[in-house]
Amino acid sequence: MHRSRLIAPGALAASLLLAIPATAADFTPGAPGVGDSYYPDHGNGGYDVSHYDLRLKYQPTTDLLEGTATITATTTQDLSRFNLDFGLKVSEVRVNGKKAAFARSGEQELEITPKSGLPKGSSVTIVVRYAGKPSEVKIHGFTAWQRTPDGGVAAQEPESAAWWFPANDHPRDKATFDVSVAVPDGSQAISNGVLQRQTSRLGWTRFDWRSNKPQAPYLATLAVGKFDITTDKTENGLPVLNAYSKDLGDNAGAARASIERTTEVAEWLEEVFGPYPFNALGGYVPNVPASYALETQTRPFYGPRAFANGSNVSIVVHEIAHQWYGDSVSVENWKDIWINEGFARYSQWLWSEKEGEGTAQELADYAYASRPATDPFWQVKPGDPGPDNQFHAAVYDRGALALQALRNKVGDKTFFKILKGWPTERAHGNASVRDFVSYAEEVSGKPLSGLFDTWLYKAGKPGAPAARGAGVARAAGEKAPAKPKSWKKITATNTLHDHH
Ligand SMILES: [Zn+2]
Repeated sequence: MHRSRLIAPGALAASLLLAIPATAADFTPGAPGVGDSYYPDHGNGGYDVSHYDLRLKYQPTTDLLEGTATITATTTQDLSRFNLDFGLKVSEVRVNGKKAAFARSGEQELEITPKSGLPKGSSVTIVVRYAGKPSEVKIHGFTAWQRTPDGGVAAQEPESAAWWFPANDHPRDKATFDVSVAVPDGSQAISNGVLQRQTSRLGWTRFDWRSNKPQAPYLATLAVGKFDITTDKTENGLPVLNAYSKDLGDNAGAARASIERTTEVAEWLEEVFGPYPFNALGGYVPNVPASYALETQTRPFYGPRAFANGSNVSIVVHEIAHQWYGDSVSVENWKDIWINEGFARYSQWLWSEKEGEGTAQELADYAYASRPATDPFWQVKPGDPGPDNQFHAAVYDRGALALQALRNKVGDKTFFKILKGWPTERAHGNASVRDFVSYAEEVSGKPLSGLFDTWLYKAGKPGAPAARGAGVARAAGEKAPAKPKSWKKITATNTLHDHH
């Protein structure tokens, strides 16, 4: 290679300086958590992952998952050791090719001690070999792995990675993913992004998936089972792949009638939020007894019971909206959940408005009027709801009320400029609620902290003067708003995340 010729004398001197070994005392262990106030042991400190390469084999009859994870990362401090979040049994760990010592600690910590310290800013390749039954792994008393009659599924929030691959499991550390899964012939393995190859050999079929844009570990998904798969391409050439368990019973028709509209929903959302941020589209429905849905990147998970009362395109709108708000722009900390859920809910209000089933204003009026001030709903602060209320209905409905208040304050033109600008401004990154407030102030040229304090940060139902000022309450004496037609289908999305 001629690359060495290009190194300037200064750079060469610098690299020689770096080669001088630091004393062992300078190398310290990476933190066992990334520093999230809601979930102290989620993620880890001391390094930043750029890519996960997962080569897996799964046997549906026994739930045995065997795998080799190759993780590329860059150190962010002089590291004597570091952690990954993981629950399955590990047989070997290598760091930069050399065998490394490893031990378990806490609920989900895999502590890895390399042969020698890793200097800050260096590239590291970590290989973890493992095997085990994900359904037997409990972390904080909970399992994110859902066993099905024909396989298993990993799709949960705020955590699901530790049940099937070792990770720096926090949205702050996103990476690209190649997921290759071998399953017995006749079964399928569904994951994120583009299905690049499907090959069969000696009774096993291997599915190779690629998600080529930064992806938070909890947004990585795996489902093994027997699926009917539909494929298509959007007019822009984006591959679409939907997968339906062959065992959805009475919910099969309604599930298809909803999820097959994903392309239409994404095209409409592009008008609202700007260009779709990823390399593929789709959704999947495994045969789990769940009614929640989750915004797993490029390919949301839908529990079959979400369709028990018939088709629900509003749920698809919610999960596809998350591809911009939640997946491309992710929380900085889990307390920032409003930047995901407030917007995904508001996108359902906008869809209702477009479909003539109630305008966002009517939905806001009803959301405000239908819950009395004594309802505990109003005690949850969407801007910092606490871990126990992270997915409380208030984060969704009061969260969307905050956006209607913003819309009324800045006017439609500025409001939609903000909705479209933010996912571009912060694409493939992380942000806090405060970041959004600053952005909205910058675009609108208006001070907005008072408005957001009222709707996101103050416990208690905002009083009538504040609500009338925000345009979400009628004048005294006016009759209560009628329930919009779309209300029921929209609130059906509230049963998300039913494990807490
Ligand atoms: Zn959501």
